[in-house]
Amino acid sequence: MKIRDLENVLEKWAPLSLQEDYDNSGLLVGDRNKDISSVLVSLDVTEDVIMEAIKKNANVIVSHHPIIFKTLRSLTGKNEVERCVELAIKNEVALYAIHTNLDKISGGVSFALGNALGLLNMKILSQDISKMYHLVTHVPKDFSERVSESLFNAGAGKLGNYDQSKFVVSGKGSFRPLESSRPFKGEIGILEEQDEDRIEVLVAPEFKYQVERALFESHPYEEISYAWIELSNFDTNKGFGAIGDLPVEHSEEEFIKKIKKILNLKSFRYTKSRNGMINKVAVCGGAGVKLLSDAIASNCDAFLTSDISYHTFFDAKKRIFLADIGHWESEQHTIDLIADYIRSKMTNFAVTKTESNTNPIIIS
Ligand SMILES: [Zn+2]
Repeated sequence: MKIRDLENVLEKWAPLSLQEDYDNSGLLVGDRNKDISSVLVSLDVTEDVIMEAIKKNANVIVSHHPIIFKTLRSLTGKNEVERCVELAIKNEVALYAIHTNLDKISGGVSFALGNALGLLNMKILSQDISKMYHLVTHVPKDFSERVSESLFNAGAGKLGNYDQSKFVVSGKGSFRPLESSRPFKGEIGILEEQDEDRIEVLVAPEFKYQVERALFESHPYEEISYAWIELSNFDTNKGFGAIGDLPVEHSEEEFIKKIKKILNLKSFRYTKSRNGMINKVAVCGGAGVKLLSDAIASNCDAFLTSDISYHTFFDAKKRIFLADIGHWESEQHTIDLIADYIRSKMTNFAVTKTESNTNPIIIS
């Protein structure tokens, strides 16, 4: 197994094209053609985490936060970022980040937090408003299944809770190969007829590149006709945050106890809820306060996220139970999420979770 194979598995789950403009997810350090010895999963990359990887003979670290985030102008060891990058290169430890692309998929970072809190009927809190596409192409009948399968494997055909959706109509295509052509069938200068299927498959925008590449790899024609058509359907399965219901109604006090127990918190900051009872809960792992209005508009009783400023609490007071549960604390379940996913898809190497607590904030 090469590092490239791990990239493919992770990017089929959380495509890089989903990441925000400011982000820097993907392979940041390392040679993708190297074999994987083992993988270490962490929220952050620190010098301790890299030393742990070296000790455990792991040559890939998959982290949620990208170590290279702002422009890296030098490698002189003047701060931890520069020292980490240097240490990783010297010891041939590859660094891979899966950040806002993992925040935005259904079942991603916020869902891991929601699951830990026992939320039911979870869905995306703030949906991306990207439109879906149809890929339309004509394929010789005998190759119809092969091409469809290849498109599905590249991410086509998914809408909501459905996959492998396509529309096929059969007909007759024709072409005349000209000088210098290398036709799939027929002779130069002679009109050729071919039984063809017109295939139409749904494609979410983040899979367009992979699906188009799969089309070219699986289609037998030298010249392929295809079209991308923008649909009116929105992809409702991508976006930040998650929303769900508690299995039973909680009083504010019960909910506070639950949060402390599950997230292992001594204390946290919050505002009072509108009526003292909590049923519907919104969560966003990491700094998600920009979703406060979505949580209020969705009629949530509570919204849990991190990095909330003093004045933002005024916006929430008596409208929604707004809680700052800490950045690391809100994303702690992401380590299990990533490790379990890699283990479920790749069994040829060991996947371990970091033993270092990378949270730089101490609460006393
Ligand atoms: Zn974060």
